[in-house]
Amino acid sequence: MATQVAGRKMFLAGEWVNSDRIIEVRDPQDNSIIDTVPAASAEDMLKCIEAAKEGAKIAAAMSVHERMEVINKAADYIEANKEKYARTIAQEGSKTIREATKEVARCIQTLRISGEEARRIHGETIPFDQMPGNENRVGYYYRVPIGIIGAITPFNDPLNLVAHKVGPAIASGNAIIVKPATVTPLSALLLAEAFAKAGLPPKVLAVITGYGHEIGDVLVTHPAIRMISFTGGIEAGEGIVRKAGLKKIGMELGSNSPVIVLEDADVEEAVESTVSGAFWAAGQNCLGVQRIYVQEDIINQFEAAFVKRTNQYKIGDKQSESTDMGPLITEKEAIRVENLVNEALQKGAVLLTGGTRNGAFYSPTVLKNIPEDSTIAKEEIFGPVVLLFPVSNLDEAIEKSNGVNYGLQAGIFTKNIDKAHKAIAKMDVGGIMINDSSDYRIDAMPFGGMKNSGLGREGIKFAIHEMTEPKLVCYKLSNSTFSS
Ligand code: NAP
Repeated sequence: MATQVAGRKMFLAGEWVNSDRIIEVRDPQDNSIIDTVPAASAEDMLKCIEAAKEGAKIAAAMSVHERMEVINKAADYIEANKEKYARTIAQEGSKTIREATKEVARCIQTLRISGEEARRIHGETIPFDQMPGNENRVGYYYRVPIGIIGAITPFNDPLNLVAHKVGPAIASGNAIIVKPATVTPLSALLLAEAFAKAGLPPKVLAVITGYGHEIGDVLVTHPAIRMISFTGGIEAGEGIVRKAGLKKIGMELGSNSPVIVLEDADVEEAVESTVSGAFWAAGQNCLGVQRIYVQEDIINQFEAAFVKRTNQYKIGDKQSESTDMGPLITEKEAIRVENLVNEALQKGAVLLTGGTRNGAFYSPTVLKNIPEDSTIAKEEIFGPVVLLFPVSNLDEAIEKSNGVNYGLQAGIFTKNIDKAHKAIAKMDVGGIMINDSSDYRIDAMPFGGMKNSGLGREGIKFAIHEMTEPKLVCYKLSNSTFSS
């Protein structure tokens, strides 16, 4: 019997609309069709951009208190319907219901912080009289919205990473067009539902569902789009940067985050934190733990405890409260991860646990003795695979941590304040956690990477900065104004 699904519409110009072609949205754990969404065409995207031009004017004209009210009402709606939001994330994505519930709570926070930050978009007065001949001038700058933001988002946090673009955009008086990941469009459409219910004026927000390779270029290259805010992989990100032309760019890309565990660390705490950091969302997490550098004196103890804790992980039905880890987003992704692990094993890596695949499920996997020329030693795995490396001291750990092209976040476990500070100073990352894994984030902190991990920062206040530009005002007064 054919699966009966609701058939969602996309949100364009303040209306819910269909298209001739559809995309089937599938639950990765059994590949069942859970819904369909429109596959937008390039013409749909062009219409969407035309409407957003009007939306940008409407958004910029909204007072700060109106912006705050609509964002808070959207947060209220999500709070009132949080089970529906969590269920949707856990159905279309690969998160478990526990992980999805946390994402919904974070999304509510992201929106509330956005509402709050709307009132703090400030400028400064300028002391023009620092330059001789300018004694009769006074003025200031303030920050204005840049216009229309094109937001392109990934599958792994299908609600909160969209909120990280929509919340700041609306708070700062911009219009925004969101193109969510094709495999997880439903959560983004639910976010649009929250803003529609909250009374956001039509045309300020659009969520357009469709394939990146079909409609992405129209958004990325269009001159009316003043900023592309992208979160996703390096390949798509680099392609977008090359095509975007003269517009602002925000790039939140991937990583293969390092964590250093020194001999004075609390091993139990380090194990608990790094296991969680490695296998959260089945390892499909931009700041997930991939490489752990453990000081030789404690590596045997660390390794045994890490493998024991990994083996306790319960893999299975995402909708069950007792499940620790779900599947990867597609079977194809699980096969990609399997191939990467097999390549490392063929080159001499040692498998401590895991390494098995069942459809889209890949078991939590721990490797050691990883040859330097294996792909996973340098590249992002984006799966539930973690690599253990012995190091003789902190300097070696820092050098090896930095020896890749990524630099999003890192962690170090030590009780020695000097060593912690050395790591802070020397590690090439956008954020470093002391006595925690790389997998730590609150939504108000500056978040983003160095090197190939990205350009710019998110975290509401920081995203608002990127989404606004200064406008300078200078009054030329009569020469006698300030003379005594
Ligand atoms: P992806 O394959 O790069 O896709 C991300 C988004 O880009 C999707 O919406 C995709 O659309 C779109 N896209 C692909 N090709 C495009 C094109 N030519 N033009 C315009 N848009 C295009 O990434 P993913 O697999 O969804 O996510 C995993 C990656 O995201 C990992 O590398 C991870 O580390 C990174 N990530 C980074 C952060 C961060 O904040 N730094 C957070 C989360 C994830 P389709 O789905 O239609 O292809």
